[in-house]
Amino acid sequence: MAEVVLVLNAGSSSIKFEVFRSRSSALEVALRGQISGIGTRPRFVAKDAAGTVVEERSWSASPGPDEEALLGELIAWIEDHLGGERLVAAGHRVVHGGSRYADPVLVTGPVLDALETLVPLAPLHQPHNLSAIRALAAAHPALPQVACFDTAFHRGHADAVSRFALPRALHDEGIRRYGFHGLSYAYVSRELARLAPDVAAGKVVIAHLGSGASLCAVEDGVSVDSTMGFTAIDGLPMGTRCGSLDAGVVLHLLEAKGMSAAEVQRLLYTQSGLLGVSGISNDMRDLLASDRPEAAQAIDLFVHRIVREIGALAATMGGLDGLVFTAGIGERSPDIREAVCRRLGWLGLDLCPDANRRGSLRVSTPGSRVAAWVIPTDEERMIALHTLDVLASAAMDPSRKELVQ
Ligand code: ADP
Repeated sequence: MAEVVLVLNAGSSSIKFEVFRSRSSALEVALRGQISGIGTRPRFVAKDAAGTVVEERSWSASPGPDEEALLGELIAWIEDHLGGERLVAAGHRVVHGGSRYADPVLVTGPVLDALETLVPLAPLHQPHNLSAIRALAAAHPALPQVACFDTAFHRGHADAVSRFALPRALHDEGIRRYGFHGLSYAYVSRELARLAPDVAAGKVVIAHLGSGASLCAVEDGVSVDSTMGFTAIDGLPMGTRCGSLDAGVVLHLLEAKGMSAAEVQRLLYTQSGLLGVSGISNDMRDLLASDRPEAAQAIDLFVHRIVREIGALAATMGGLDGLVFTAGIGERSPDIREAVCRRLGWLGLDLCPDANRRGSLRVSTPGSRVAAWVIPTDEERMIALHTLDVLASAAMDPSRKELVQ
């Protein structure tokens, strides 16, 4: 009988879910959907693998059922919908694993307590990730839950990579560069190892270019550096986030312009990046379609910063054998890929314009010294794979079978 894994990605008022069926070592999507409006007017929508809506429920009385009740309904609905198949575990995307977690972990009471101490490091995401784990544990205490971290893939970074040039005590408190998008990088590295093992064994930069964007330097499948640091606002400019910024600008906004910390946070997270520079849109499609000079400026800045950071990461690794594009912009914009690759000829990258336009997986010419690839990411599938791995190793280690109560 197939085993079924539920993957949850919990945000401030919504929980995205995806249900995978594991059958003879293949993992197929069975259902996916979302519970939105938690705390106001909840709505539940589920689709099958083909994208057809198979269930829609909404609650008219505000605030409607709470998170625990909604997750209880979700589990009951999944089990009903899958007939005799058995839900074996839930895997969660958890943004922060701190310095401690280098791998996904089976959630126990002590693990949950440890993850709670990381809330100050990711106040916008971690509380929602953990509250979904708690609510699911209350609704379904017997279901094993696995926490999969956006930071874990980067946990092996060298001291010089992970340290800010700040007093030591702050580093010891946890103020250091962690890196994010790790589930995406883990998945893409795995896929690259399958598609081009020779490239994956070398020095590779993976460019996760979505509404959030970062780059990761990966040597033989191991992350050695990343453009994101203490928070997911660092590094490249993104849809609405500023990316790396002289810390003096923040001080200036606070002191000379008298902005509050909340106003600065809103500015840097939601009003900057492509949206802030263009004044038009945070969506790369709108900017590429626009003939306004501000749109071109935003695109030029995005490409410039990607190219600059690829140079820096190549220097970290002492060379570059492969460049992989992934996520919304990386997977779907030949124009941005071309603009980036054109400026990397000096590193030995020769883009094949036809392959790039056609949407091939390999987009560099056969003679290119640096191989360029486009590999669609799938963070949910990575969580499902991690969850099954953790479950299999926990089954072999009875001391790890304690669940969250
Ligand atoms: P998220 O980080 O929200 O998961 P995605 O990886 O789905 O984001 O990327 C979303 C972004 O991808 C959109 O905001 C848009 O800018 C960009 N995008 C999607 N399709 C295209 C396209 N065909 N061309 C250029 N950009 C695109």
